[in-house]
Amino acid sequence: MIDQSTIERIIDAAEITDVVSEFVTLRRRGVNLLGLCPFHNEKTPSFTVSPAKGIFKCFGCGKGGNSVNFIMEHEQLTYPEALRWLAKKYHIEIEEKEETEEDKQLKDARESMMIVSEFAKNYFHRYLLKENEGRTIGLSYLKERGIRDDIIKKFELGFCPDGKDIFTQAAQQEGYKIDFLEQTGLTVRRDNWVADRFAGRVMFPIHNIAGRVIAFGGRILKDDKKSAKYLNSPESEIYHKSRVLYGIFQAKRDITRLDKCYLVEGYTDVLSFHQAGIENVVASSGTALTPDQIRLIRRFTPNVTIIYDGDAAGIKASLRGIDLVLEEGVNVKVLLLPNGEDPDSFARSMSASQLTEYIKANETDFIRFKTQLLLGSTESDPVSRARLISDIMQSIAVIPDAITRSVYIKECSKLLDVHENVLYTEIRKILQKENEDQQRKDIREQIKTKQASALVAEKATIANPFEIEEREILRILLKHFGREIFEVESDDPNEPVLLTVGQYVLGELDTDGLTSNSDDINRMLDIFRENCENKDFEPARFFINHPEAGLSKMASDLLSEKYVESKRWVKSGAFVEAEADILDLLVPRIVQEYKLRKVKAMLKQIEKKIQQTSTDGDFARIMELQNQYINLKKVAKYLSEQLGFRAIN
Ligand SMILES: [Zn+2]
Repeated sequence: MIDQSTIERIIDAAEITDVVSEFVTLRRRGVNLLGLCPFHNEKTPSFTVSPAKGIFKCFGCGKGGNSVNFIMEHEQLTYPEALRWLAKKYHIEIEEKEETEEDKQLKDARESMMIVSEFAKNYFHRYLLKENEGRTIGLSYLKERGIRDDIIKKFELGFCPDGKDIFTQAAQQEGYKIDFLEQTGLTVRRDNWVADRFAGRVMFPIHNIAGRVIAFGGRILKDDKKSAKYLNSPESEIYHKSRVLYGIFQAKRDITRLDKCYLVEGYTDVLSFHQAGIENVVASSGTALTPDQIRLIRRFTPNVTIIYDGDAAGIKASLRGIDLVLEEGVNVKVLLLPNGEDPDSFARSMSASQLTEYIKANETDFIRFKTQLLLGSTESDPVSRARLISDIMQSIAVIPDAITRSVYIKECSKLLDVHENVLYTEIRKILQKENEDQQRKDIREQIKTKQASALVAEKATIANPFEIEEREILRILLKHFGREIFEVESDDPNEPVLLTVGQYVLGELDTDGLTSNSDDINRMLDIFRENCENKDFEPARFFINHPEAGLSKMASDLLSEKYVESKRWVKSGAFVEAEADILDLLVPRIVQEYKLRKVKAMLKQIEKKIQQTSTDGDFARIMELQNQYINLKKVAKYLSEQLGFRAIN
């Protein structure tokens, strides 16, 4: 358990922009900051951060909340875990009571797997540097390859002892459960037999974007034809290799700063670049490049240079990568290294500035790259030439931006010596076909979402038909709770009593005994009631930071830009900024509209009851209902008139 005062210190320290910037590149837009949403796939930013309110909100997928909610969502943590994560970031010490056996078991499996991985990383790292075997075999190999101590430390490289289960035993002795060792793939288990997966390998920990270890790559050193040179952790709850890039944690700051990302093939390529002083580099290790990996880069920059070996396999790999990168709206350049060089050896042969210069001078945009590559062998053969053109046009067609497309077409026309019009025709054909495919897909999707949203809407109206009005009331309370709006009569004419928005609204609701169908809304109203006389109560801050996800989500939704100002005032032409100045008009109106809707709903119900009762012939009951009806009708008429509506008969 974390005590309340520590929670408050954490929340105070965790400035929203600072927290979100760890993961999302934000650009200033007015008083807010804007970026690409990390929770859904988008190409134009709809993810907003409001430093003043301390909240984030995505207008694409609807996710929103404070810094704690952001970390919960982004790192897939529970509320206390997210608080711990932030406490660590801001060096706030947490006083906790001793964990019981039960607590330990309850800890989220994901968290346990990360803790096991953290232990393994430290164990392997220490083993490499301190133990005889680690030094003579692992460390000397790294030294032979010219990898410096600072790089070994920075990437936390390690060595797994060569034996059957030396590591697994050590971990179990430290109290780590065999289940999590197995689930992270560090240990292989069969019936009565366990073994270290990575025995005798140099270990490369793989960090997630936040810097936590989620998997490993291990390189074998023995000359063993049967074993793969590199072995990776298997897919697990915490490691999805198609969504991870090796080095992203160490690279993210420089990728943003330099607005450029180099993409190489392997672990050692990344290390060599760092060693040469270039840090904006990642590797799509262990897999062919995936769209998720590109999106990961795109959060930091749209500019990617693929640097691959000059051999046939390297060329093929870059060709496969390119269309994928283009499709995500990324500007891609390619650098093929001179034959016989790989990024690793190449980086080690130069200084940082030489390397940067070389890349700048020799990277080519993809179209030139592909054209030159394919042109060489097919120049004279008209059939292959036609195929080449259509192949390149296919790549250009996937580029989302029309201007970039036309630049490429121009260039391609020169290189291939084909008239631009011919190329445009080719592209149009491809796009048309894609459009048709897309339309068909869209229609299918629309039908699906329509069905789904109809269901949701139906549920919502059944659950709470007054949601709109009630949310509007909550919004007003969140924003203007303590503001004084009315003077009321008191015994002492020299000391008038001032009524706050909160006192007025809650007084009105309570006089008529109005409650909501939604538990969350009632909970919020209760909290407001408790704080009616509390001058220090800051509702926005209180609710946004509320540990109940439902309440903090509702508060941050209500305070987010799109909902901030009441629509009716925008419509009627009033200045939207003026809400605070017209509270004495606005607040009673909102309350009365709510009451009117409630009364109308009650009238409908009574009508129904009267109809039902008529068939039973219970006249006394009918009279009673009719009386109720007439009284409510009067109330409705009064409210309508107050609101300036034409009276309804
Ligand atoms: Zn989103």
